[in-house]
Amino acid sequence: MGALDNWVRLQDTYECYYSIVDWHSLTTDYADPSEIKSNVIEVAIDWLAAGLDPERSTLFIQSLVPEHAELHLLLSMVVPVPWLERVPTYKEQQQQLTGKDLSTYGFLGYPVLQTADIIIYKADAVPVGEDQAAHVELTREIVRRFNHLYGEVFPEPKTLLTEAKRIPGTDGRKMSKSYGNAIYIKDDPETVRQKIRPMVTDPARKRRTDPGDPEVCPVFDLHRAFSTAQTRAWAAEGCRTAGIGCLDCKGKLIEHMLERLASVHARRPEYASRPDTVHDILFEGSKRARAVAQATMEEVRAAMKIDYLGS
Ligand code: SF4
Repeated sequence: MGALDNWVRLQDTYECYYSIVDWHSLTTDYADPSEIKSNVIEVAIDWLAAGLDPERSTLFIQSLVPEHAELHLLLSMVVPVPWLERVPTYKEQQQQLTGKDLSTYGFLGYPVLQTADIIIYKADAVPVGEDQAAHVELTREIVRRFNHLYGEVFPEPKTLLTEAKRIPGTDGRKMSKSYGNAIYIKDDPETVRQKIRPMVTDPARKRRTDPGDPEVCPVFDLHRAFSTAQTRAWAAEGCRTAGIGCLDCKGKLIEHMLERLASVHARRPEYASRPDTVHDILFEGSKRARAVAQATMEEVRAAMKIDYLGS
């Protein structure tokens, strides 16, 4: 929601491209791609229900713009492997997703594909959470290297940090579908309640009478993202003094989350009942995106001296 709220606002000031990156999901789910297609549509429905407007922004599917793959390949010629090995999420996800073999070439190259996704539209800025900031920094490094070798083709994109910086999952780790700890926009109120109630809290607060520390509690991170300043102050004070229990704290959080989700929940069924319209929106957006990507690739091929057709 933090990201989406921001994206909806950005439509007023920027020409925006929002891509559903199905190839990226294959980097971790390559062994079982059975849900990718339906997930793509679900994501699109969430986006539309949250207020992304296909008239103002380009909403598209990554794999329908195959130029991303070509740019990924060309960038992979110039990106040193140690740059990728030191990306924090590389080691972290390998350790966390123990059931999956992530010692693949595709997984290592994930940030190169991400760079291609960004720069193929010559993006000036990328709206991301703090956890993705290192990736945008790497994108800038790759752009500098490319431009140094072949001339100024790409601008260096800046990072637009989203306000709600850390959104932990219900187990306290980063919220991610792959970790099975996510709360989904489409989750109905009862599901949201069932996920929040057993959520991990400050591990030092074992009993109701123990004071806690909101700074180390993932529930409080969600308060930061969803609750009012007044509720946050109430939770912080009540936690530190053991004036409230964790279930009271979570109850207030649930109220605020459901308030924020209410408008999306109201709009979502409308799109969910029309998957063909959602398909059409994504196909139309992909066509628009592809025209831009193709123009960029002509420049890239010329810069790299592999532009046979035009010469
Ligand atoms: S009272 Fe709230 S902030 Fe404190 S440990 Fe419990 S859930 Fe976390």
